[in-house]
Amino acid sequence: MLQKPPLPVRHDLADVEPYVSPQLPARVRLNTNESPYPPPSDLLDEVFAALGEQELNRYPDRDAEALTSAIARHTGWPGDGVWPANGSNEVFLHLFLAFGGPDRKVMVFEPTYSLHSLIPRITGTQVLEMPRNEDFEIDVDMAARAIRREQPAVVIVCSPNNPTGLTEPIPAIKALVEESPGLVVVDEAYGEFADPTDSAMALLAERTQVVVVRTLSKAWRLAGARIGYLLAAPSIVAAMARVRLPYHLSTFTQLVGCAALRRAAEALTVVDAIKAERDRMSVELHAMGVRSWPSKSNFVLFQTSGAGDLWQSLFDRGVLVRNYAGVRGLENCLRVTAGRPDETDAFLDAMKEVLP
Ligand code: PMP
Repeated sequence: MLQKPPLPVRHDLADVEPYVSPQLPARVRLNTNESPYPPPSDLLDEVFAALGEQELNRYPDRDAEALTSAIARHTGWPGDGVWPANGSNEVFLHLFLAFGGPDRKVMVFEPTYSLHSLIPRITGTQVLEMPRNEDFEIDVDMAARAIRREQPAVVIVCSPNNPTGLTEPIPAIKALVEESPGLVVVDEAYGEFADPTDSAMALLAERTQVVVVRTLSKAWRLAGARIGYLLAAPSIVAAMARVRLPYHLSTFTQLVGCAALRRAAEALTVVDAIKAERDRMSVELHAMGVRSWPSKSNFVLFQTSGAGDLWQSLFDRGVLVRNYAGVRGLENCLRVTAGRPDETDAFLDAMKEVLP
């Protein structure tokens, strides 16, 4: 049989590395910033009962109206400015399909969440990577000059920033908005672990360029359900509908999202417990002489010599953390997710055992 040479991937994807965050079996999994706690116990009962009344032979509600209204009620932002999708990653994909593309640029501040540059790249958008300072803060003057020069269609701010942990001050975000010709997207995936006053949601009403992205994957304990959303001006939400696949949110996803939002207070009760574990880890790491960065999220970034070997030694003791040891700008850094108290104990015990 005549073999034709394999079709090469699109040339602009040749250098794009697939997203990797190893899903390894471990007793204590503190590597992907999930919640250690399952969602409220009656949530799935309600979802299964409601599923029985659905016609699964029919497509789901294409506009996910009930879920959109539930998000609007929860956030206090009007429903025509709400866009739910399959996790905030898909929100970003929609954003870049609609507002990115080969003739447009996005500005990100590294180190930050890797998908903020991967998603633009796969949509052909040019990525401008700006460095943060030694404390992982954005140098606002430098950023403002770069925005003036480069005129990016989109600027992404991650607040709290993954993997470094701190929120971006609201005046800094305002300054970036002031300079930006396009959208300023604030990813608040970990917003529930920070202070409400840190949220850029307050800027939405003042500035139509501002987009806030949130998720039910972290504080809401629903990473497996894949639900995220954006809040923005209605014209931005209208653009999202042009690029989504029809019926992008399954009947199941919509029911889970509605049930979770109905139980907002209950779902979020564990946030304080997780913050307490985060702070305990920071204090204990400091006591061990390990450098770590302050965090307003559900994880702590820390740095030690020989971090790659340390990661392996922790894993050998059943504790899985995120390895950034070889990543530019994060040399010798590891990130640990705040989990249950017994998981913090396991992490700290393992650290004490393996630290030189
Ligand atoms: N934004 C940030 C900053 C994240 O850390 C993550 C998950 N690690 C996401 C977005 C994506 O979350 P999801 O797609 O589960 O909503």
